[in-house]
Amino acid sequence: AQVRDLVESKLAVIPDFPEPGVVFRDLTPVFADGAAFIALSEALTRPFAGRFDHLAGLEARGFLLAGAASALSGAGVLPVRKGGKLPRAVLREEYDLEYGTAAFEVHEDELPPGSRVLIIDDVLATGGTVEAAAALIERAGWRVAGVSVAIELLELGGRARLGDHVEIHSVLQY
Ligand code: 5GP
Repeated sequence: AQVRDLVESKLAVIPDFPEPGVVFRDLTPVFADGAAFIALSEALTRPFAGRFDHLAGLEARGFLLAGAASALSGAGVLPVRKGGKLPRAVLREEYDLEYGTAAFEVHEDELPPGSRVLIIDDVLATGGTVEAAAALIERAGWRVAGVSVAIELLELGGRARLGDHVEIHSVLQY
């Protein structure tokens, strides 16, 4: 509860961004506050202690959280990057955005086979972003240890979309 209160006290809530009708939860003031950032990063991995080998950070805000969680937990980071950024052989997964599509990529040989990977991102909304990352991890021959996000937007149904076989943890729910 202390972590939730600390993070929530720093969170910025912006109505009508990036378009009318959307309420955007902005974590940048949390990142800017050392105590809140560290507490949040620790809270992301704590429920999965002993059950993951690596952290998958989803570009770009997931990179910040996964990096901090790496330093706190000792697990290395798998950068899940937007398409076209990685220099070696990749696996690619396209996913739908509200308008158009985007793609995530990982280096196909980045982690040892069977690695247990905990997916880290800032916000779980419809679940499409996390679903694409999970598909990449499985196609690469690794295992999804779980999904951990700072904020879950309950009305958008991401949890149902990801299904029962994935354990999902969120620090704050709206
Ligand atoms: P989804 O694919 O689950 O619909 O959308 C999740 C992605 O959209 C996340 O990577 C997240 O960064 C971004 N996103 C959606 N809504 C919000 C929001 O209210 N605040 C922030 N910071 N990101 C959001």
